[in-house]
Amino acid sequence: MVNGKKKALIVVDVQNDFCPGGSLAVAEGTAVVAPLNKLIKEFLDREEPVFKTRDWHPAKTKHFQAYGGTWPVHCVEGTPGAEFHPDLLDDPRINIISKGINERADGYSGFDGTDLARLLREEEVEQVWVGGLATDYCVKHTVLDALSEGFEVKALADAMRPVNINPDDGAKAIEEMRAAGAEIVGSESKAAGMS
Ligand SMILES: [Zn+2]
Repeated sequence: MVNGKKKALIVVDVQNDFCPGGSLAVAEGTAVVAPLNKLIKEFLDREEPVFKTRDWHPAKTKHFQAYGGTWPVHCVEGTPGAEFHPDLLDDPRINIISKGINERADGYSGFDGTDLARLLREEEVEQVWVGGLATDYCVKHTVLDALSEGFEVKALADAMRPVNINPDDGAKAIEEMRAAGAEIVGSESKAAGMS
């Protein structure tokens, strides 16, 4: 605890379907793995909590295009596409948060319908560091919810990449996170998908 604040790391949705070759691949999605692995190791070495969120959808959900939603089928619970990327560090001390379980909700945020806020408070965490996939959806919503739950947030720009349905979605997401009170750390152009 270098700065005296109790910290936790939240690794958002680094799953096969969001990486190249997956059904909803984010360009350069695997580029987040190395910086996140470094942080996972550092946090665990200091005995600070690490959380991995995962999209964990039912096969039928309004989140998918076939049922009126926005997205192609991805991260259906128990399928290979929903598994964490094989290069992402695994460790029994890491807490896994499954989200997007509700068939009537998108469940972008790691806090939406999960125990994450309660678990962070139980660990007396004051500050969360957030990275993963994708900048403009699940990372953004997780960051905004962390702020509204009262946590300080460092958004790890080197360790996130956007979907960018519109080419400036990632850049707008960065601005939205900053305006809400997050500290943006690292390369914003990478986080926005513009480099
Ligand atoms: Zn999803």
